[in-house]
Amino acid sequence: MTDPRRLIPSVDTLLDDPSFGALLSSYPRPRVVKALRSVLDAVRREAGEGMGAAEIQDPARYAGAVSGWLARDDVPSLRRVVNATGVVLHTNLGRAPLAEAARRAMHDVAGGYSNLEFDLDRGERGSRYDHCVDLLTELTGAEDALVVNNAAAALVLALNTMAQGRGVVVSRGELVEIGGGFRIPEIMERSGARLVEVGSTNRTRADDFALAVEEHHPGALLKVHRSNFRLVGFTEETTLAELVSLGRDHGLPVLYDLGSGLLADPAALGLPAEPRPREALEAGADVVVFSGDKLLGGPQAGVVVGRSEWVGRMRRNPLCRALRVDKVTLAGLEATLRLYRDPERALAEIPVLRMLSADPDELRRRCEVVAGALRPTPGLTVEVVPGTGAVGGGTYPEVELPGWVVRLAGGGLRPAELIERLRSADPPVVGRVEDDAVLLDPRTVHPDEEEALLRALAHALGVGVVDLDGEPE
Ligand SMILES: *Cc1c(COP(=O)(O)O)cnc(C)c1O
Repeated sequence: MTDPRRLIPSVDTLLDDPSFGALLSSYPRPRVVKALRSVLDAVRREAGEGMGAAEIQDPARYAGAVSGWLARDDVPSLRRVVNATGVVLHTNLGRAPLAEAARRAMHDVAGGYSNLEFDLDRGERGSRYDHCVDLLTELTGAEDALVVNNAAAALVLALNTMAQGRGVVVSRGELVEIGGGFRIPEIMERSGARLVEVGSTNRTRADDFALAVEEHHPGALLKVHRSNFRLVGFTEETTLAELVSLGRDHGLPVLYDLGSGLLADPAALGLPAEPRPREALEAGADVVVFSGDKLLGGPQAGVVVGRSEWVGRMRRNPLCRALRVDKVTLAGLEATLRLYRDPERALAEIPVLRMLSADPDELRRRCEVVAGALRPTPGLTVEVVPGTGAVGGGTYPEVELPGWVVRLAGGGLRPAELIERLRSADPPVVGRVEDDAVLLDPRTVHPDEEEALLRALAHALGVGVVDLDGEPE
């Protein structure tokens, strides 16, 4: 018997065949060649398995395979997904979705030129660092403000500016790892400041700081908000007020890494108190850094607020240039901050705040819509059950957001299979598996995405597409 591989046509023979005409007119030739080579390699590897002599020579079959290959190759690497996990600040899914106003501002600035570094009043060079300053000082009560790439960058810049070549005193209970390889001791080392750790993991007193100041003559005192874990039991923490008082006595600035940057009122969100930038500055912190895309609900950015002497020095630090924020981010951050001028508007329009404070009854109603559309599916058990969402993004680790979820089991699929099929939909849907069932939480699904969610479910379960009224399309 001859090796079926000997029947495989050559690249040139196939490209000259009329069945490749349409592909060659829609794609550049080198891309078609690359795709064809890859398809031919696969056929050779499988030694033409499962293909008869006619099929192995059929140009139309190869054209079909190449067309599929090119379509898959055209799917962008970074794409929109539907987050049905109920984790609001899902770091793996891009943290904060942005408010409509922010998206519009970003779109506008991205598509044209802007006054990024141009003073429109005077017709001369301006500074990109001017743009969010008024809003940030108004919203936090700070003297001055600076925006860089993310909070990690803001912390490096602050440490480098305030204490390069000098010690920075911090409690051992606050030497946290935030995730994504961000550890306070390592960041400190890279910033050029020297770590002076005091106290023990569970207890640090003001005296520990005072002793370290006498002994090490540091450049600054640092407090880090333990965003993603809680110390409970036999604990003692040096308060910001104690650090501020010690700093005043010794002429040392106090830097506070706040992490999350909550600007809204936590009570209005139904959340426990969390230190906020304004309160930290009022308590006497000289410089406060926080993130733009955690509880603030804006684009990825790092914000520094505080005394103009320090913020000005940071702006002039050459390192600032390496950490600088881009125009699209600035536009999105400015539009998001603007919403905070009216706290009610912020709660209504900033998606992160809306999702955190979602009404459980409304979540239940949205679950029922999805469940109603799926109930006719043979063999599938569809339930609407109480379920909790999470804040995520390394904030409020112990808070469970009360709500409802759609619980799916059966339908001829194991939960892992269903979840995988949902991920392969377009747009992909990410849910969670718990107790042998798939759970879908509407809290993090934008109402505009409900139809895409139902389409993904129909695709995954192999049933007809159902629209939101439950009518087959
Ligand atoms: C999240 C966090 C950071 C890092 O913020 P990014 O904006 O992600 O760089 C820094 N410090 C604390 C305490 C945090 O919680």
